[in-house]
Amino acid sequence: MEIRLKNLTKVFPGNPKKNIDDTVAVNDFNVVIPDGKLIGLLGPSGCGKSTTLYMISGLQEPTAGEIWFGDEDVTRLAPDKRGIGLVFQNYALYPHMSVYKNVAFPLTNIRIADHKRYTKHVPCRPSEQPTHLRGELVKDDAGNAVLHRIPLSEVQDFDETAKEFVPISGAKAVVIVKEQYPVAKAVSGSDGALASLAFEFPLVYTQDEFDADGKTVLHAKNEPVLGADGVQKTKIFRPAQIKVNVPERYLFDVKHRAGEAILGEDGKPFSYKRRLTKDEIDKLVHETAALVQIENLLERKPNQLSGGQQQRVAIARALVKKPKVLLLDEPLSNLDARLRLQTREEIRRLQKDTGITTIFVTHDQEEAMSISDEIIVMKLGVEQQRAAPQEVYNNPVNKFVANFLGTPPINLFKGEIKGGKVYIGGDFVRDIDEKKIGDQEVIVGIRPEGFIVDDKGALSLDVKSINTMGRDVILNIDDVNALNDTKIIIDALVKVNVGEVRFSVKPVKCLVFDKKTEERII
Ligand code: ATP
Repeated sequence: MEIRLKNLTKVFPGNPKKNIDDTVAVNDFNVVIPDGKLIGLLGPSGCGKSTTLYMISGLQEPTAGEIWFGDEDVTRLAPDKRGIGLVFQNYALYPHMSVYKNVAFPLTNIRIADHKRYTKHVPCRPSEQPTHLRGELVKDDAGNAVLHRIPLSEVQDFDETAKEFVPISGAKAVVIVKEQYPVAKAVSGSDGALASLAFEFPLVYTQDEFDADGKTVLHAKNEPVLGADGVQKTKIFRPAQIKVNVPERYLFDVKHRAGEAILGEDGKPFSYKRRLTKDEIDKLVHETAALVQIENLLERKPNQLSGGQQQRVAIARALVKKPKVLLLDEPLSNLDARLRLQTREEIRRLQKDTGITTIFVTHDQEEAMSISDEIIVMKLGVEQQRAAPQEVYNNPVNKFVANFLGTPPINLFKGEIKGGKVYIGGDFVRDIDEKKIGDQEVIVGIRPEGFIVDDKGALSLDVKSINTMGRDVILNIDDVNALNDTKIIIDALVKVNVGEVRFSVKPVKCLVFDKKTEERII
């Protein structure tokens, strides 16, 4: 799924009375995120990364601009309608539920469209209300209720012997309660006899709803779910038979709640929405668990898992609904260094396996660079640069981006361009090809790996201390022209002593920025 952000803007209003200005968290952000790619959204704290992600997810509403998923404008669409999976930094799992239930949870509320069922078998005559089906309730040999649809013209042919139901008289309706739950509504006729029996709940029909004579037999199971306050919250009807004790023979009215089941006219196809079956949920949970390798943990509770395992469960929970878009907001920040590395590789593998368009928010540049197809570097709500990680590292558009990527960071010095050459404190650093660039004061950036210890080198620097890191050595430099902490990385095999050392500079590692605008010149 391609994601397009058009002029996306978010302003958090300030408070003039308290002298608090508006905060422009995201400013006129335009980007196309190609289908199937993993994009790292990178920038320092407060640059608007999370706000961008929340707007894409629908958790926050943009002040201006649009969000498109493919051909659909989702700017005002509710989060649950967007087909997204979200993993936050605090990926709170439900502590009282097993891993299995945590992963299955998002599936319990979704409704899927189903078009196939009984398209030709349940005729609904034009005279009948499509949401109101009359019929006959009959007890079968096993004591289960089966429902036969019967024509309206035969409704008066009915015998009331309701030992199971509350006696009723006069023309009124009585709610029949069975095992605490309202099961059906009986309506008496003027003579006090039961005139109709209306099920309070929508029924979901099974495939095997036709008896041998081709008569419609509807099998359903009544399983209302109670909320914490004891009030019925949901009505689930699974394809199974009604287990209530029913009198021998009853007429019924089955009411289909809006959106639950819509009967089509005779012979015409119709669609309805239903919940997933237990088996369908089970299959999805196991598939997803296999993907993130938590199959052996499904019976555990979250507090019996390591941080990395919990993180995988959170990712499974985000993936189980097969989202079109996966949004990850600093998902690794609670993990220790080794686990971070391992989990980020897993996320990368998962993303490649599933091909889900993914946006990964982090302020950790190394993480973003290692995991992303492309990175977008943001500053104060504005995109600075978007490209493949290595490209952004090699060719940053400005000082901010150059400084943000790389550890240790790029070394920055006061310098100048004179006669087509770059100097730091009068020492030659590199030539420039574009002779058009006039003489001026500049900021020179040299990556730590851009220095070569060279007796004939023109750049002389004062090495204050040396840290041996194993394969490499870091030289800590003290220089009057330095604008930040200068660190040079060289091979540990090269012998260097504290004191003045001469260097030459690799031109590709030496970038030059405009002193005022800080845009890159070379
Ligand atoms: P971090 O890496 O610290 O999470 P971020 O890049 O994700 O930072 P955002 O959380 O998007 O940054 O915040 C962007 C700016 O918007 C910040 O200046 C922040 O203070 C401000 N902001 C975020 N949420 C609100 C809010 N609800 N009300 C007011 N200002 C907010």
